[in-house]
Amino acid sequence: MSEQRVALVTGASRGIGAAIAERLAADGFFVWGSATSEAGAERITQALGDQGSGLVMQLQSLASVNAAIEQIQGHGHVPQVIINNAGITRDNLMLRMSDSDWQDVLDTNLGGTFRVTKALLRGLVKSRWGRVINIGSVVGRLGNAGQTNYVTSKAGLEGFTRSLALEVGSRGITVNAVAPGFIETDMTDQLTDLQRGAMLERIPLGRMGQAAEIAALVSFLCSEEAGYITGQTLQVNGGLFLV
Ligand code: NAP
Repeated sequence: MSEQRVALVTGASRGIGAAIAERLAADGFFVWGSATSEAGAERITQALGDQGSGLVMQLQSLASVNAAIEQIQGHGHVPQVIINNAGITRDNLMLRMSDSDWQDVLDTNLGGTFRVTKALLRGLVKSRWGRVINIGSVVGRLGNAGQTNYVTSKAGLEGFTRSLALEVGSRGITVNAVAPGFIETDMTDQLTDLQRGAMLERIPLGRMGQAAEIAALVSFLCSEEAGYITGQTLQVNGGLFLV
């Protein structure tokens, strides 16, 4: 890369987002990583050293997203890589799911991706080069009892990915989704031993995935070599679900 490219990774304080931020920084990008708190943002700044910086962003708030983007632009940076990674769960069976559990998940996982991408897309279009990568989930295809809200958000991300890929392909921008299976992070730490055991039995590779294994694919999709891949959802799930 002649001029250092800039990437934004949402939800970079922990888990998959932290692994992606560190991998892209190692690849040579300047990485802005978001957290929901000042303390989380500071930890990202420490982790990335002079290859990146943390900032605070609440995906469900347009004002917060815009303030974070202004902070990036205030440094003279125009991100050409957007990694929509941050996501939440509020699991419950449909009959017990509250309206706010439904709204929070849709508004964060799907609405947040729309807000962040919209706020930055003009910069990618002007550059005539860009990468948008949305972190979906294997359950977006499989379905999952107790997660109608989360699964809907992840299935929605796949449709968003395909539609945006069609809109911006002529500008040299690729848009893809990466759908992780069960990856060892805080999100899956919430599983009981029983749930974990049942899940492992269904995974041909017999283990949970590592965040770095998701980051490796994201790194490739951000590279020049991946320039002819767009509109796809790529599964990284140990064989749990075969397309
Ligand atoms: P995680 O460990 O729970 O981390 C979530 C990240 O999102 C944190 O950085 C968190 O920031 C941020 N975040 C939470 N709520 C937010 C909000 N309202 N606005 C902005 N940022 C927010 O999650 P993970 O397991 O790494 O998952 C990352 C992505 O992969 C998610 O989209 C998830 O759905 C997807 N995924 C995960 C798995 C898995 O097995 N782990 C499987 C499939 C898909 P704070 O640290 O400030 O809270």
